[in-house]
Amino acid sequence: MTPAKTSPTKIARRGLMMVISSPSGAGKSTIARLLLSKDDNLSLSVSVTTRSRRPSEIEGVHYHFVSEREFERLRDSDSLLEWAQVHGNFYGTPREPVEIAMAEGRDMLFDIDWQGAQQLQEKMKADVVSIFVLPPTMYELQSRLHRRAEDTEEVIAKRLANSRSEIEHWREYDYVLVNDDLDTAFEAVQSIIRAERIRRDRRHGLFDFVRGLLEEEPKLN
Ligand code: 5GP
Repeated sequence: MTPAKTSPTKIARRGLMMVISSPSGAGKSTIARLLLSKDDNLSLSVSVTTRSRRPSEIEGVHYHFVSEREFERLRDSDSLLEWAQVHGNFYGTPREPVEIAMAEGRDMLFDIDWQGAQQLQEKMKADVVSIFVLPPTMYELQSRLHRRAEDTEEVIAKRLANSRSEIEHWREYDYVLVNDDLDTAFEAVQSIIRAERIRRDRRHGLFDFVRGLLEEEPKLN
């Protein structure tokens, strides 16, 4: 029997761009953190931001913290794949790491807002899969923001006020989850990723695999 030429587990495919958005406090960053710790094929797109660093954040891990001047330089030299102003600060996705990951067939996770999601959907089309995470209630959203206790009252108030306009963009996403239970929401996101990875139109390597399969002539004994 001639073995299939391509191993079924190594069928080449394009990298996936997993975009996850939600209003602040709906749990998207927790879901993202869990995904990254459990999935070796997924890496986080580390954004640049002009926001000040929170005590728990690490430069280069959570964000690249830059001055407004540096942000403008990156934006004007086309080094950002998308960028937006969110809650009064600038945020953007560095272009190069994404292009390298996509070319190598690696998947990336983007924790970005609806403006960034729109720009990526426009530019990268079929490579983008988007998920919107809703809080179970506005009350729960507010308490999560307070429980995090990393922002001032003024910042929390601004984020809450902005959450309504963020939520209004839910229709622009491929998948919408309500995060009333973290484990359930996390499992749903994992299932989405698993299914999206085996989509036919993403796996150009299927062509060779199926050809090899059809060339096989197993002998019955
Ligand atoms: P935070 O300040 O809480 O880390 O993020 C505030 C908002 O900015 C979140 O909704 C987050 O998803 C979004 N954000 C973070 N990085 C980027 C980015 O590179 N581009 C865009 N468009 N939004 C971002």
